[in-house]
Amino acid sequence: MMYDCIIIGSGPAGISAALTLQANKKEFLLFGSEELSQKIVKAETIHNYPGLTDVSGKEFCAALKAQLSAAKITVKTEKVAGVYALKEKFSVMTQAGEAYEAKTVILACGVESVKQIEGEETYLGRGVSYCATCDGFLYKNKTIAVICTTKALEHEIGYLADLAKKVYLIPMYKEVEIDRENVTLIRKMPVKIDGEMRVKNLTFADSPTEEIPSVLPIDGVFMLRDCVSPAVLVGGLEMQEGHVVVSRDMSTNLKGCFAAGDCTGRPYQYAKAAGEGNVAAHSVCAFLK
Ligand SMILES: Cc1cc2nc3c(=O)[nH]c(=O)nc-3n(C[C@H](O)[C@H](O)[C@H](O)COP(=O)(O)OP(=O)(O)OC[C@H]3O[C@@H](n4cnc5c(N)ncnc54)[C@H](O)[C@@H]3O)c2cc1C
Repeated sequence: MMYDCIIIGSGPAGISAALTLQANKKEFLLFGSEELSQKIVKAETIHNYPGLTDVSGKEFCAALKAQLSAAKITVKTEKVAGVYALKEKFSVMTQAGEAYEAKTVILACGVESVKQIEGEETYLGRGVSYCATCDGFLYKNKTIAVICTTKALEHEIGYLADLAKKVYLIPMYKEVEIDRENVTLIRKMPVKIDGEMRVKNLTFADSPTEEIPSVLPIDGVFMLRDCVSPAVLVGGLEMQEGHVVVSRDMSTNLKGCFAAGDCTGRPYQYAKAAGEGNVAAHSVCAFLK
């Protein structure tokens, strides 16, 4: 099926875009997560969203879920691995290997608060990967490092541990549940990825210990993050200082591709994200006409 639009991200920007597209009777898919957005759930108290006084992030999330349900909008909880601009359409690939097509795309994937590691961009596709299910098979019987920022992605570590000979897991969260013979936990700060044609080493800021040297020899690194840079998702997307470059109508440099919310720049706020999602959806409707 050819959708009118595919929205990537179920935070305030993506939800606002979805509600507007629904009101305009467009056929669309909304990709995101079960909890909608970690950045909503984790907020202690929200004071600055019009119409809401002192609600918790969890209450805000519940209200958004109820609104989506009343509008009969479902969130597809598959992670998008790549968006490909083809002639007058987009192909959206998920990490599960499914492909969907749409005439337009709205990027509402938020921003990753974790800083990129030196060498990450240089070695992307040459030993650095963001998707376990897409690239895991390349590391069968090899030694890999996995830098994981969220417990929600722990199942992907299990998948990699099934394939690789050795996994060095560097979690950026507290309670690690994975317990596998070939997985070694490292509580150190990775600072650099380097190599030659392909990745060879991961360097830590901390001093070496008996088991873990400062420079760890590896065949690849998986960066498992809740959200990756939109530039990694969409080839050829114009970015500036880590944000998608957009016009007033939220269009990007790629025809039919729009962006909204934190991924387009500061201020990082719910109201700004929701407003931009709304504008992006109206622009999609105008574009489709
Ligand atoms: C602890 C905390 C408290 C905050 N408190 C406030 C506050 O009080 N007031 C305020 O105005 N702002 C607050 N903010 C900022 C606010 O949360 C953000 O500005 C807002 O959530 C941005 O919305 P967004 O839709 O752009 O992105 P996000 O809310 O980050 O949502 C992005 C969504 O995209 C999904 N996604 C990303 N990549 C993919 C992919 N490849 N495939 C599928 N889905 C994907 C993510 O899972 C997520 O669902 C707070 C932020 C934090 C962290």
